[in-house]
Parts: sequence; C-alpha cells; structure tokens
Amino acid sequence: MSATVSLSPEILAKYQPVIGLEVHVQLLTESKAFCGCVNKYGGEPNTHVCPTCLGLPGALPVLNRRAVEFAVLAAKAIHCEIRETSIFARKNYFYPDNPKGYQISQFDKPIAENGWLDVPEGDGSTGILKRIGITRLHMEEDAGKSIHDGFADSVTRTYIDLNRCGTPLVEIVSEPDLRSADEVFEYLTRLKEILLYTGVSDCNMEEGSLRCDANVSVMLKGAKEFGTKAEVKNVNSFRYIRSAVEHEIERQIGVIEGGGRVKQESRLWNNGEGRTYSMRSKEEAHDYRYFPEPDLPPLIVGADWQAEILKALPELPEPRRARLIAEFGISAQDAATFTATRAFADQFESAAKRAKSPRRVASLLTSEITMRLRAAAGYREGSNHESPISEDGLVLAADLAESGELSSKMLKDLLDKAFANREDFTSVYERDKPQQISETGVIEGLIDEVIAANPKQVEQFRGGKRTVAAFFVGQVMKASKGQANPAVLNELVIKKLDAV
Ligand code: ADP
Ligand code: ZN
Ligand code: MG
Repeated sequence: MSATVSLSPEILAKYQPVIGLEVHVQLLTESKAFCGCVNKYGGEPNTHVCPTCLGLPGALPVLNRRAVEFAVLAAKAIHCEIRETSIFARKNYFYPDNPKGYQISQFDKPIAENGWLDVPEGDGSTGILKRIGITRLHMEEDAGKSIHDGFADSVTRTYIDLNRCGTPLVEIVSEPDLRSADEVFEYLTRLKEILLYTGVSDCNMEEGSLRCDANVSVMLKGAKEFGTKAEVKNVNSFRYIRSAVEHEIERQIGVIEGGGRVKQESRLWNNGEGRTYSMRSKEEAHDYRYFPEPDLPPLIVGADWQAEILKALPELPEPRRARLIAEFGISAQDAATFTATRAFADQFESAAKRAKSPRRVASLLTSEITMRLRAAAGYREGSNHESPISEDGLVLAADLAESGELSSKMLKDLLDKAFANREDFTSVYERDKPQQISETGVIEGLIDEVIAANPKQVEQFRGGKRTVAAFFVGQVMKASKGQANPAVLNELVIKKLDAV
C-alpha cells in the first residue's frame, strides 16, 4: 500500500463516503442472558460465573425474560418490526474469552427488523432530518475479556476474566445510509439518547456498555455500486469514532487515488496516532458456521406480550423536543438541552408546569444553574451532578425573578449562597431575602419620582394604553432595588396613574 498521493479538497470531493454502523449495547438486566449470574460491571475477575456461562459440558442455557423485554423495547423505540418467532443461533469461533467456542446470537431470524432513526443531515446546519434505515436488531451474549496488561508477566501471558461472559446484548445494524463522519456522530448521539430514555442500557462507553463498529467505504460520486468496505473497530467515544471515520475515508481515497484497491478487512483505530491499522482480514458469515441453537426453543413474543412490554415505552426525545417547544414556548436549543436526558427533561417539565413562566424556568436551568454546577469541583458534562436546588426552590426562584420581586443581581447572590452552602434556594431565600418595603408612603414617593421622569409613558396611559402600568411597576421595582412589595406596588401604581 503506497498511499502517498496528497489529497486536495478537489480529490476528496470526487468521492462519496458510505457508512453503516453495528452497535452493541449491553442490557441492564439483573442477571445474565442465559444463566442466573449477576450482570454487573467489574468485580473480582471470574467471580460472576457458573457452569453455563463458563461453557462447561452439559450446562444448559435458559433465556432471561427481562432481556427479551429490553430487546423489544429498544427495537420499538427505533421503529423496528418485531418478529413473533425468532431463532437463536450459534456463531462458532475460537477465542480465549469465549469458552463455549461459540456465541449464542441470532442469525437469519432476528427478533426485530426494518427500523429507522432520523438524524440531522450533513453537519446539521441545514436543519433537515434524514432517515437512516435500521436493518435489524438482534439478541446475543457478550464474550469475556482478555487482559493484556497489569500483571508482572503480561508480556508472556494473557489473563482472562469471564465475568462479562453471557452479558445480554442487542446488536443494532444500520443500513449503509450514512454519508459522512458528522452523520455518524449524530446517529450515535440520537441512538444513545433513545436507548437511555428506554432505560434498557446505561450506554456507558468507558465500561463498554455501548460499542460501535463502523463500516466505511468510498465510491466515485454518481457510481452505481458501493466500494469495498473496511470495518473500524475498537473506538470508545463518539468523538473518536468521528475522527476514525474521517481518517478511514481519507485513507481509502488515498489508496484508490494511488492506484490500489481497498481490502475488505477489520481495522483498529489508534487515537494517539490518529490513524487506523489493519487488524485482520474480515471473516465472512459462512466462516462462522451458524446453525440454530439446539439448546434453546424458538423465542415467541406474541401480540399480548408485546403490548405489555410497550407500556414501558416512554415518550422519546424527538417528539418530546417538539412538544416542549409547543407547550412551554421555549427555544429549540433549550428543548434539545433538556431532552438530552430523560431526567433533565423531567426536571424542567415538572417545574415548568408549576411556575408562572416556563421560559423563566428554562433560562434559569440552562444558564444560572448549569453555570454553577459546572463550576463545582469534579463536574463532568452529562453526569448527574447533584444540584442543591429542589424543584420548589427552582419554581420559587423563577417566580420571584418573573414578578420582579428579585432583581437579577439579588437572584444571583442568593443562588451563589445556595451553591456555596449546598443549601436549597427556598431556605436561603427565607433567611436572606432582601428586606421588603411595604410602607405605602415610601413606595408612593418612588412612584411619584418615576411618573415625573416619564411624561411620555404617562401620556400613553392616559390615552388608554393601560398596559403601560407594567412599565412603571418595573421602574419603581428597579428604583427600590427589588425591595418594593409587589402587591402593594401594583395597586399603588394604578391608583397614582389614574389620579394623574
Ligand atoms: P457483512 O456481511 O460483511 O457483515 P453486512 O452486509 O452484514 O456485511 O453489513 C454489515 C454493516 O456494514 C451494515 O451496517 C451495513 O450497513 C454496512 N455496509 C454494508 N456494505 C457497505 C459498504 N459498501 N460500505 C459501507 N458500509 C457497508
Ligand atoms: Zn453464569
Ligand atoms: Mg453481516
């Protein structure tokens, strides 16, 4: 391979990348797919094991009902059709972390097929959604782990931990519908969001609960047939997958421009070097000698069971975004921020329903509160960092800001205190709220000053535009540094204006 051709933008633009993804997702069941062992990340090596997941002779698999329910839930969330009768199959291969010598998977009769996912097209700048086909979702079991370092003799030995062996997985295979690294990133982001909503997986990439292989090929634009694909494996963050796909596209174009041919193979991404390496030539399906698993009967998920499972399907992020915008009048950007996780969306929605102004709740959450959470030690984006502000506190803060009872400066001060003491806003406010001015004499004095200073608005009011009263309320509130009692103030402003 002598890809020394320099790739100008003109050359790159001659080619159309084509990408299809295979995503493996560990299911959050209590126990493993075919035995009663605990399904839990980590633990002392080889302690979450039994004769079945160790593949000891004579041990038989029993399918975990919950794993089926999670698979159906995930499949429905990505608009797949459920196959009433699906068949488990043995995928045969030797590897030290695969003690049975085969993996129980599904082959020609997977539990779900023909789904789709809408993702923003291109780099997202057009705002147009593009439908990506999902070929299938099938159930299978995870393998164990080979450990190549961390031991004194790691150079000469590989250690095996079989705790992960038999963890229930779904594999979600997309059609080759993706056309750029950006679309890959968007697809994965949306898919993860949906899976998190359904609660079937924690999608923790660092712990390997969500793993992705990217199949990449390039062809000349306008060509009728796809090029030969290479599969990029072992990439453990969405951002790295985006770079890996970008680099793989360029590598393949380089190979073709240099007169070579792209080989069908599996490649590994090395993030440090920013390039992929050939790992092995890709095996074909027939290499695995798939055959129906003789130890498991066909899996039947009838209409009744499906309906029962679907009761647990929550409103999904995309429709929820649209509804939050319509129902609460918040911006598309804020809606996207909230719907990134179900918990955040719930937090917003629940407070927004109780507050005078949902938009005020939205801006408090996305600015003042997020800002203070980020400043806290140990904050990680997307982590469920605990805010000291309860829903009551949030609603109270939003309402006080909305009515003008708290100026933005006072609100910031109180929030600072709440975060510094890790105390709820309600109690900080109770204790430290600014003194209110309720004496009518003082408030009247302020109103008189404001009326004198704004003759134009007084004219408008007298001309019948009674909403101008709000302007005077605001000005007096400002003059009183937010301390005027709003109820008293409202009443007096009208009285004064009527009397001018
Ligand atoms: P294989 O038999 O090699 O596993 P499949 O047809 O089952 O290939 O497809 C595996 C994945 O590769 C799917 O996600 C599919 O969309 C994707 N894919 C198939 N052909 C191509 C191609 N020419 N370029 C990019 N991706 C492809
Ligand atoms: Zn077991
Ligand atoms: Mg295949």
